[in-house]
Amino acid sequence: MFALYDTLTREVRTLQMREPGKLGIYLCGPTVYGPPHLGHGRATIVYDILRRYLEWCGIDVRLVSNITDIDDRIIDRANREQRKWQDITHKCESVWFDAMGRLGVQRPDDIPHATEYVDQMVQMIATLIDRGAAYATSDGVYLEVQKVPDYGALAHQSLDEMLAGGGDREVLGAQEKRHPADFALWKFSKPDEPSWPSPWGAGRPGWHSECVVMSLELLGDGFDLHCGGADLRFPHHENERAQAVALGRPFARHWMHNGFVVDVEGEKMSKSLGNVTNLLDLLDLYDPRAYRMLLLQTHYRSPVKVGQDNIDASVNALAGLDAFAARSAGVRAASDHAVLAQFRALMDNDLDTPQAMGLIFDTVRQANGAIDAGDATAGALVGAVHEICGALGLTLVAASEVDATAQAKAAALDAARAAKDFATADALRAELQADGWLVETTKQGTALRRTT
Ligand SMILES: [Zn+2]
Repeated sequence: MFALYDTLTREVRTLQMREPGKLGIYLCGPTVYGPPHLGHGRATIVYDILRRYLEWCGIDVRLVSNITDIDDRIIDRANREQRKWQDITHKCESVWFDAMGRLGVQRPDDIPHATEYVDQMVQMIATLIDRGAAYATSDGVYLEVQKVPDYGALAHQSLDEMLAGGGDREVLGAQEKRHPADFALWKFSKPDEPSWPSPWGAGRPGWHSECVVMSLELLGDGFDLHCGGADLRFPHHENERAQAVALGRPFARHWMHNGFVVDVEGEKMSKSLGNVTNLLDLLDLYDPRAYRMLLLQTHYRSPVKVGQDNIDASVNALAGLDAFAARSAGVRAASDHAVLAQFRALMDNDLDTPQAMGLIFDTVRQANGAIDAGDATAGALVGAVHEICGALGLTLVAASEVDATAQAKAAALDAARAAKDFATADALRAELQADGWLVETTKQGTALRRTT
């Protein structure tokens, strides 16, 4: 039985599906005002692994992940750059999906945009006012958290404890709020800002109202699993849940939060990475599979450091698996059942991917031994390695000969980098990528691998 750590209960619980064999997941998606960072990459990869694994188990998964395409930060950037806000959201959304594609993250089944659901958000806010759980002020409409009996359940904090700790005080409208933790469902717009009509005044929805409406609209009451990064647990997820509770509607049955990405201070991976927060640079400089490999070797709830050392280690581990794929290409047979059963037991225990990776490496060692010995068990072990890698979204690339032209370009790239001629290095990298090479930066210099 598949069991996950549940944020609401702080226990590992067997996933109780609303409808056996089907699983609806809502993953909070990006606010499209800038490039994706490493934390975005982590969340999407973690839930891509979850989704692929569940599908491998035969579960019919429906993943809904939204785009927040209206937000203060989008408006601020549009004003600053004198652009239309839609220019920013469209551009950022395409950069987002391009990056996700390179990470091997499958597209969600549904990608609702907040601006497509404003009517439903207005209706929901009206219902909350009718039920006495929300009120209007001079700058918007707020949810009154004291009307929500178990507010703080996800944060594992009561309202009293939040007050003692300073709470979540928003400066804007603070004087008119009935409690410091009350949060905006609707914000009135200033002149020239994008706005939608509402019974209380023109404005835009609050972020927490977007996700509760879109998740319930697409997945229905009591959907199975709500996911996101640990930074979303409070206040975002708490506030989504508070609205559902105040509406009297069953919300997510389970909650799952992945750990943070920790900056590695002072460690420089390249001229542009700085303290390594830019996902796009990581994708340009390394085999995009390296980040998935690193995350597979980290438990999803643990913090992860992304630095030169562990990215190098991931690149090396991938090279080992790729070499195995090349060596065992003609040996593959139906997967060894015992290995698959072990894999399943590990994954069913709160998605223990580090142990699952350990199982892969052990099986590779056994398979290599069997191949060397001409043992008939080799094929089933090779089959199991491929099948497990597939279930984790890890594509193995059979290593191939690097031709003389590519070798020369790689050497020129190393020389340019050593001379700090980054423009030439970037141009050579782009040429190699266009020629179908994965270009990796290792301590030993540039390494090349075929993408096909
Ligand atoms: Zn959300």
